Amino acid sequence: KLAGKNRYHFFDAEKDQYIRGQHQALEDIRRALERGEFVLHYQPKVNMFTGQICGAEALIRWQHPEEGLIMPGDFIPTISAHPLSVDLDEWVILTALKQIELWLHSGFDIPVSVNISPLQLQDSEFSKRLEKLLHTVSPAARTRLSIEVIESHALENMSTALNAIEESKALGISFSLDDFGTGYSSMSYLKRLPVEELKVDRSFVHGMLNNQEDLAILSATIGLAKAFDKKILVEGVESEEQGQRLLSLGYQEAQGYFISKPISADQFIEWQANWKAPLSWTYDRDEPAL
Ligand code: C2E
Ligand code: MG
Ligand code: MG
Repeated sequence: KLAGKNRYHFFDAEKDQYIRGQHQALEDIRRALERGEFVLHYQPKVNMFTGQICGAEALIRWQHPEEGLIMPGDFIPTISAHPLSVDLDEWVILTALKQIELWLHSGFDIPVSVNISPLQLQDSEFSKRLEKLLHTVSPAARTRLSIEVIESHALENMSTALNAIEESKALGISFSLDDFGTGYSSMSYLKRLPVEELKVDRSFVHGMLNNQEDLAILSATIGLAKAFDKKILVEGVESEEQGQRLLSLGYQEAQGYFISKPISADQFIEWQANWKAPLSWTYDRDEPAL
């Protein structure tokens, strides 16, 4: 009985500590946002078939004055269920829009996708907030923004999510289903979600060269995308050979460390001027590169 009581106190103290830690973390993130400590890096998307650059994904980083660069995996989960994630998402969207506009002004025309907390789609005000943000830039810049969402419990409440997506689409924004294949019921979502694109999760690419199941999933997913008339992009291409195999399966658009890691906006301009797809991806094609 005594042990039980002690345990209870132990768990209580642990929970208390957790809550205080959580509270502190939220405060830190709120302050970082005010102080402008967040930055977006951009990871190129390329068409392996034509060799052309077809877009960029904006990925957030926290430039912490003492800790250095903190990756999203270390702070996004902390706030994903908190209203603060709305503020952070707004900052991300606004910053990406301004970057698109800056690039357009310098003659560099490229679509950019952002990641948002799936909870956003449970908010009936989402598209209204989005519309305000969109109107801070030119119509040309606006139409180059797209949004990546992951399947999650937040999408379970389908009617609200569907509304948010439909209203945003009416504003000219397209959607992509991120980490596709890792959700627990991809097929039913696929049937009902009006997304334009599937982003196939990198875990399948990781094992594809020596795992028949991964290869089978990648192959079946291409078929699904075609059947559902969706665009498809594959994440996590880390080698030339993976790219070759993906091309032979019918994949064209890709993202991954082999092409480029996420880089700053300035580095992106330098990178794109020097980018060349490997010969093995582009030679011996039936059709000439566009
Ligand atoms: P994600 O949206 O699936 O982004 C892709 C992640 O995979 C990025 O990690 C990217 O750096 C990494 N990656 C890209 N190519 C490769 C590759 O070839 N190999 C490997 N091993 N990894 C690769 P990052 O930047 O650490 O982001 C992690 C996750 O954090 C993102 O996954 C996304 O869910 C979330 N996230 C990132 N930025 C934001 C943001 O601005 N807002 C929100 N709400 N979430 C974000
Ligand atoms: Mg993403
Ligand atoms: Mg992903």
